[in-house]
Amino acid sequence: MRITICGGGNAAHTSAGLFSTNPEHQVNVYISFPEEAGKWQRGISENEGITVSTTNQETKGKPNKVSSSAEEVVPGSQLVLLALPAFAHESILEEIKPWLDEDALVGVLAARGCFDLSAREILDEKANTIPLFGLQTLPWACRIVEFGKAVNILGTKAKVGFAVCPPQKTDQVCSFVTEQLHIKLEPIGSFLCLTLAGTGQIIHPGVMYGLFRNWEGSPFPEAPLFYQGIDDDTALILQRMSDEIQSIKAAILNQFPELDLEAVRPLGDWISQSYAGQIEDTSSLRNYFVTNRSYKGLTVPMQKTEQGLKPDFRARYLTEDVPYALVATRGIAELAGIATPMIDQVINWSQEKIGKEYLLDSKLQGSDINETRAPQRFGFETLETMIEAMFCP
Ligand code: NAD
Repeated sequence: MRITICGGGNAAHTSAGLFSTNPEHQVNVYISFPEEAGKWQRGISENEGITVSTTNQETKGKPNKVSSSAEEVVPGSQLVLLALPAFAHESILEEIKPWLDEDALVGVLAARGCFDLSAREILDEKANTIPLFGLQTLPWACRIVEFGKAVNILGTKAKVGFAVCPPQKTDQVCSFVTEQLHIKLEPIGSFLCLTLAGTGQIIHPGVMYGLFRNWEGSPFPEAPLFYQGIDDDTALILQRMSDEIQSIKAAILNQFPELDLEAVRPLGDWISQSYAGQIEDTSSLRNYFVTNRSYKGLTVPMQKTEQGLKPDFRARYLTEDVPYALVATRGIAELAGIATPMIDQVINWSQEKIGKEYLLDSKLQGSDINETRAPQRFGFETLETMIEAMFCP
């Protein structure tokens, strides 16, 4: 099978290296930056492939072709994977659209919110024949060791939430992707469910807000702990954000009781199940984070300035998780008629830190709304029309 992977970062190195170890796959890589594509080509040629290492194993896979021309690598691909940060999804979809075969399958590793609405708008009539699938997160925690040559997998998730548009094709696409890519998937109903169930949208912006909402600019001697730095007030912020998402879920189910939103779970349930055996003290939401061995020692993204270390508000915890996830959920809340005062506080603070305007006068009508995945951006003004587009595309 011909697979084209779009992207040139950590996720692309890992998927290109792993998937091309299968002799039945011909793996191409599309990178829109020619300089980056050149570095990949040189790296692969010197190393004779991409080495993928874990703590106890090392494999090497050699992609067939790397190019910065979509025309050279996309045609004939049965599977096209976007292994990219969310801010690059739309431009890459625009670039590959003319070269996608009618019967191709397009998937996104780490979909974030409302990917289906965004991709269907871009693919337009091509979306009628091309099913889309999205993974809730990347199956691996991975980092490039040497560009174009080697990548390290720090951990592999036991299962990854998985959604398909149209949802009616979920079983078929799930079997195909599992068989071809050997990723353990957990179908979770729909992209709507995947959007609301994302916990990164609560934890990443919520913790940044909790830790730095009163920060006045003094540098830090060292990077503060991210998860272990959560105090009672920050835990309450996370709890309230989670409660608001549960209210959105309840409002949707009230109107559409047939929908499966089972995977939209309260944050405490999610973390206690996802990290079973890793948490020493399960007496409170704060302790789920603070005593979670998987989170031990992880610090806030910081930037070095002349005055010293300061929190890096340009890091993805705000620049990716807010516009492409939390704002999408906030948009769904607006359509469902649910007030989200805590989420609004977090968005208001975040948008100021990253120099954007999403919320204006408590509505998603800010000047940068077109850089988000809020359903309003794609013209949806009622919950009914959005649900219809998501479930009966
Ligand atoms: P990355 O930062 O390594 O990806 C950067 C690459 O994306 C660049 O090298 C370039 O090839 C491409 N890119 C960036 N901007 C672009 C643009 N404007 N146009 C075209 N291409 C562009 O990211 P990653 O670590 O591979 O992560 C991919 C996604 O997976 C992200 O959403 C990330 O949050 C998520 N994720 C990553 C990990 C991980 O361990 N790496 C874990 C969980 C989730």
